[in-house]
Amino acid sequence: MTILNQALECLHASERPLLIAHPRPDGDTIGCTLALRLALIALGKSPRIACVHPLPGNLTHLPGAGAFEVEVSEAADIDLVVAVDLSDLSRTGGLYQPAWVGRYPLLVIDHHKTNAAFGNVNVIEPEAAATALPMARIIEGLGVPLQGDIATCLLAAILTDTRGLRTATTTPAVLRFVSELVEGGGDYLGVMQRTLDAVPYWQMRAWGVVLSHLQLERGIVWATLSLAEKEALGIEDYDDLDLGNLLIQTREAELLASFLEMRDGTIKVSLRARPGYDVAWIAKQLGGGGHKQAAGYSLPGSLDAAVRDTLALLRQELAQPH
Ligand code: AMP
Ligand code: MN
Ligand code: MN
Repeated sequence: MTILNQALECLHASERPLLIAHPRPDGDTIGCTLALRLALIALGKSPRIACVHPLPGNLTHLPGAGAFEVEVSEAADIDLVVAVDLSDLSRTGGLYQPAWVGRYPLLVIDHHKTNAAFGNVNVIEPEAAATALPMARIIEGLGVPLQGDIATCLLAAILTDTRGLRTATTTPAVLRFVSELVEGGGDYLGVMQRTLDAVPYWQMRAWGVVLSHLQLERGIVWATLSLAEKEALGIEDYDDLDLGNLLIQTREAELLASFLEMRDGTIKVSLRARPGYDVAWIAKQLGGGGHKQAAGYSLPGSLDAAVRDTLALLRQELAQPH
């Protein structure tokens, strides 16, 4: 049986699946989770959806966004767990309960190169621009058309992970997929306006502070935001400032990094790379994961130490691209 058929069998057999999105959620994990939820509801099932962090304001307009739960008890009445757009179990942010191992099947739907296939059934497409692509094939496989609200949710997923269709992963197949979603009634303009061109005022102010620290060393660009600055700006740890996507617009940058100091004493590092470079290996080496062009991890210690250790590896990549 193909992996896709195994995934479909899992979903058909389930009545009360729990779908989990990753922490500091982005459009791909949220859009895909919402799309699958709607497809399962259309089949008469009772899915639950969860994410440990609240949704950023640019995703709360998506159909069903209000249904996300931030915690799920170990004794929850579920019969399947679906991990959406996350590369390892720790990326459920603690939502996945150890007691569920072996009790409920775990279905993984993802596109991270660093995904270790941690589920019982793993639909992982490392070449896909977004989890939206394998998710769309699963939804179609379930016999549910990619129309209306489902198309809108999948548009949010593919348009955010491709930064508005401008990443190296934006292939003709991606453009055809977007076209299919728009023909199915997906709200393309609404997603563009309310999800992509929708940076809240506080985040614009935070970008101002981050940009005032912007540094350039040959092809490497980086910036930091300290805890004191975050507190002065009223920024929570789960607020995703989307710095990677901001900084990659710097013309001189081949590689870039942003460093956010967190309240638990760690530094959240986001890496981005122009096509031809690879930052996934750096993230993997430092305990995180991601893709060639976008990866991340968290380091204990000071901002300075995180910058120093990260720059050492970025310089290696710049000198000798993987
Ligand atoms: P970010 O820099 O947070 O926007 O993340 C860039 C990419 O790396 C995303 O695809 C994330 O899923 C992935 N990523 C970020 N942090 C981690 C982590 N700690 N572990 C695994 N993957 C991560
Ligand atoms: Mn994601
Ligand atoms: Mn993704």
